[in-house]
Amino acid sequence: MPKNLRFQTPTGMSDILPEEQKYYKKIYDIVAEIADFYDFGKINTPVLENSDLFAKSIGASTDIVNKEMYSFKTKGGDSLALRPEWTAPIARAYIENGMQSLPQPVRLWYFGPCFRHERPQAGRYRQFWQFGFEVFGESDSVIDAQTIQIFYNIFKELKLKNIIVEINSMGDSNCRPYYKKLLANYLKTKEFALCVDCRKRARENVLRILDCKEGKCQPIKNQAPQILDHLCDECKTRFKQVLEFLDEIELPYILNPYLVRGLDYYTKTVFEIFTGSKESNGQGPQALAGGLALQRLEPQALAGGGRYDKLVKLLGGRDIPACGGAAGIERIVKLLKAQDEGPQKRAEVSIFLAQLGDLAKRKCLKIFEEFRKANIRAAESLGKDSLKSQLNKANRLGVRYSLILGQKEALEGIIIIKNMETGKQETIKLDKAVEEIKKRLKK
Ligand code: AMP
Repeated sequence: MPKNLRFQTPTGMSDILPEEQKYYKKIYDIVAEIADFYDFGKINTPVLENSDLFAKSIGASTDIVNKEMYSFKTKGGDSLALRPEWTAPIARAYIENGMQSLPQPVRLWYFGPCFRHERPQAGRYRQFWQFGFEVFGESDSVIDAQTIQIFYNIFKELKLKNIIVEINSMGDSNCRPYYKKLLANYLKTKEFALCVDCRKRARENVLRILDCKEGKCQPIKNQAPQILDHLCDECKTRFKQVLEFLDEIELPYILNPYLVRGLDYYTKTVFEIFTGSKESNGQGPQALAGGLALQRLEPQALAGGGRYDKLVKLLGGRDIPACGGAAGIERIVKLLKAQDEGPQKRAEVSIFLAQLGDLAKRKCLKIFEEFRKANIRAAESLGKDSLKSQLNKANRLGVRYSLILGQKEALEGIIIIKNMETGKQETIKLDKAVEEIKKRLKK
């Protein structure tokens, strides 16, 4: 091993340090509250799943499975993968835990890390956190609109500005195959002008070309036939209904006929959510319902989702419709940091517990716990022996009272209480300290 070896986080992964936790907590609290309101139950699944679960659901020819999955063989010979997303594991859990037999719909939400071996860049990591919602067993189009509404409400609660919802329909097994053929025909003469990845996609997963960000593919993509012109009657009606629901709740959206998602299991409604700015970046602003003009600020989505009516059956369950979405937490944290909208700093510390000598230290360890149980914010420096440095810390924290316990006090069962404002000191009984402080803090 080299002598100067310094361990670092793996590429594309990072520590979430104490000063950042407040943003994660803020997001968690809002998501949990909204999930509760809409009657979602929280679910956790293992970080590892059988690799085939993802190949079968997300699609073996998708980037996520093909290029980005952390998969490996265990010592026992199982093929496992770190979850690259949550929907397939949750569908697996829904089937495995007998939730198909519960009264439907079954609504589940989650919050936790995912892993994709992507090329790391700003806003794109190899370990990232997602929260999301899944609704199983309800085919009504109102659920599609409500799923979008839930994400929209969370972003509003987080005070994110200029939220842009993009929406499309990807059709179903009735109309999508015809559209795919149409698209493949259109691309036949243009294949040479596509990027390397898209040439492969043209053969394996033609819809994914619509999602390509490479400059050279854009003119070809912009002239391509649009699925919205080729939806079957059922998909057309559903899409119209979803848009009407969104209009009803005055949720602004943009129709993006080229929106396709990177996962094969989607059918019908798909959506992505971005933040925007009111200024144009030269590509012309996009008009939102209500006459608002917004331009995507970041090309990266904050959230995405849609309907996946075939997934449960594909994974061995019954023919159960479903709809859901996921949001990327790091991208939201970045926006919260920029608007410095973390929750207020820690509740103020009211008292400081200082100690001198071994017996006093032992007793302080115990009293500190009593303050916690009594819900009184206390601080200590049990690792420090100098009284001066302990009281310096008490001063820095701006506490109202310091409690000082020396060897003599510990032996006599008393403790010194110092009013940090007036400097006045008194002694009180050690076993009455919590009660006494409670009384004084009320004044
Ligand atoms: P997806 O499962 O690809 O639809 O992703 C849902 C959301 O997760 C996206 O809209 C992003 O906000 C976030 N996300 C996806 N991949 C990454 C990544 N590699 N790094 C950070 N966030 C990501």
